[in-house]
Amino acid sequence: MIGLKSYCWGAAFLKEDPALVQSNHHDYMKAGADIITTSTFKASVNGFAEIGVDEKEAFDLCVKSTRLAHQARDEFWANEENRKGRVRPFIAASLSPYCGGHRRHAGKIYNGNYQETDQEYKDYHRWLIKAVIQEKPDILAFEAMPRLDEARAICQLLEEEFPDQLAYICFVCLEGTSNSSGDCIMECAQFLNTQPQVIAFGTNCMPPEHTTSLIKRMRSVSNKPLIVYPNSGETWDHAAGVWHQGSKSDEFMLQEQLPQWKAAGATVMGGCCRTNEAFVSQIRSFADASNKAE
Ligand SMILES: [Zn+2]
Repeated sequence: MIGLKSYCWGAAFLKEDPALVQSNHHDYMKAGADIITTSTFKASVNGFAEIGVDEKEAFDLCVKSTRLAHQARDEFWANEENRKGRVRPFIAASLSPYCGGHRRHAGKIYNGNYQETDQEYKDYHRWLIKAVIQEKPDILAFEAMPRLDEARAICQLLEEEFPDQLAYICFVCLEGTSNSSGDCIMECAQFLNTQPQVIAFGTNCMPPEHTTSLIKRMRSVSNKPLIVYPNSGETWDHAAGVWHQGSKSDEFMLQEQLPQWKAAGATVMGGCCRTNEAFVSQIRSFADASNKAE
């Protein structure tokens, strides 16, 4: 496996082991996920070049990513047992922030410590959007966005060149009031609330303990569906290349936090880095129990 060492992360598995990508989708739907995301976060021309994949093949692999998600969903949904009490899972095409495409930005993906022109943002995002929409995902998922200016440029790009595509945009945050580059989260939410192609938004890959505060702030300025999927609470040490254990347990996440997130106005909940199928399964149980109680 080369995926975790290369600069295009899990997208490398599209070349190395596509069957694993497909079975991973299946495992998460089986665990209770209503949305699966394609294996294209950090997929880029530059990232693929580092593992010896040229631009044409890289594009084809990204097209394939959506196809794999469809195949996994079709297979899952064909089994009557899997359909009980469920909506047909959505396929979200995963897109990362601008810095995902450039080694010089390594380690900056979470803090938004870069600033490009609108044109540069658009030029970066256009390539992957064109690839992942070939096989018609249900929605584009712009994940872990650290900067509001980039989100604005993405919305412009969608309006100008992809007017039929619907999207959700999630910001990455390090604390409870702003995204990781320091833009006020309420300002971010106010902007996305006005964007017709953005049908949901929220925050992902943030420390779980700041999630309730973020939801409350976003909910105070918008009635759109809010999506939240924090990481496990562990932190990535880029220099050392290791994860540091978080201070919060799964029990903290699942027993204390989930009811708070729902009460604060979250519509969609999930898990980001270092969470797993067991975690998603527990969210499913929580959602089923609270839907039943209503
Ligand atoms: Zn994450």
